[in-house]
Amino acid sequence: MSDNRPANNPNQPRQVPLLDLPRQQAEFSAEIDEALKRVTSGAAYILGPEVKMLEQQLASYLGVAHCSGVASGTDALVIALRALAIVRTGKEYFSPDDEVIVPSFTFTASGEAVLHAGATPVFVDIDPATFNINPEAAAAAVNSHTIGLMPVHLFGNPCPMDAIMELARKHDLFVVEDVAQAFGASFGPSKLGSFGTGAFSFFPSKNLGGFGDGGAVTTGEEELATVIRMLRTHGGRDKYNAEHIGYNSRLDTLQAAVLLVKLKHVERLNRCRRAIASYYDQHLCGLDWLTLPSAVPGGEHVYNQYTVRVLNGKRDLVQEKLREKGIGTAVYYPVPLHRMNLFAGRCKTAGSLEQTERACAEVLSLPIEPLLTEAELAYAGQCLRDL
Ligand SMILES: *Cc1c(COP(=O)(O)O)cnc(C)c1O
Repeated sequence: MSDNRPANNPNQPRQVPLLDLPRQQAEFSAEIDEALKRVTSGAAYILGPEVKMLEQQLASYLGVAHCSGVASGTDALVIALRALAIVRTGKEYFSPDDEVIVPSFTFTASGEAVLHAGATPVFVDIDPATFNINPEAAAAAVNSHTIGLMPVHLFGNPCPMDAIMELARKHDLFVVEDVAQAFGASFGPSKLGSFGTGAFSFFPSKNLGGFGDGGAVTTGEEELATVIRMLRTHGGRDKYNAEHIGYNSRLDTLQAAVLLVKLKHVERLNRCRRAIASYYDQHLCGLDWLTLPSAVPGGEHVYNQYTVRVLNGKRDLVQEKLREKGIGTAVYYPVPLHRMNLFAGRCKTAGSLEQTERACAEVLSLPIEPLLTEAELAYAGQCLRDL
């Protein structure tokens, strides 16, 4: 093994990584090497047969009519929004008067994509129990300029899609789901990404991750799917008759080949993530300085992160103590979008963002590597209980 970290005695681990991509890679390397060899010997590097195959398998797994591979999760969001602008308004971009309601507690790209599509993000607060957009705050933010909603299924936890879709129907709003962190999660009987237009990321640390950047857009609407496919290749139906201001944003054939292998294992890895979460739920409950995450009723959480709240202003101290004990943690996210310079003068806020601010100060994500051993998990749990 070319791993240069200190060796972990398997029976008495003293290191527990937040995530361990080399470990996952070792598990699948034979299968993946073979798949990569097939691509390099065929040399169809751009939109080769593996891309189409992956798109079909993803569409079938997610229960959607159309799925298009793109170059990243960020591009998936941008292209979804641009395609909606084209189909809904007949214009290339939305206008700054057009408002899209987005949670402020998310990764930068969720809000940034709205700006790329020409609209204005309106940041609303989260439900403190789930870290996800508060549907009541979203409802209160709707006005005559509102054109769409962007629920972000943060940390792998489904947003309450019944309330979101009801709100969208009531005001004729589009819904773009940011499913970057929630591949395979569901709400009720349906997979996420099948409610609205779905934007997925295959960034290596996501639940379905490639060997670099990648993403996909899902939709049930044929016309939208056509425009999405046009936008990813310079806005044309064919190579030399461009109609829209497009992008070069394709999913690499090599990435598709890796993802086809990993897709076969994603359910098992998601089950591992859920088992780790359930271990933490059982072994960390009752600590008075800690609040454990809760899943939305009716949703199946896939734990891209297991994110707790550390109370009483002790988050940074706890993180440091855990680091000393070899426990990998991370803060997602320390800065809400409405506080970033990027959005200054380019966004609106609606209602109080108190829960967002509180989450940024309290959250800490614990080791969620799906292939953690029981001994590693037990050590992490013990370290947390001993704090
Ligand atoms: C990762 C992520 C993205 C962006 O995906 P990339 O593939 O990195 O461009 C968007 N939204 C959220 C919530 C993410 O976690």
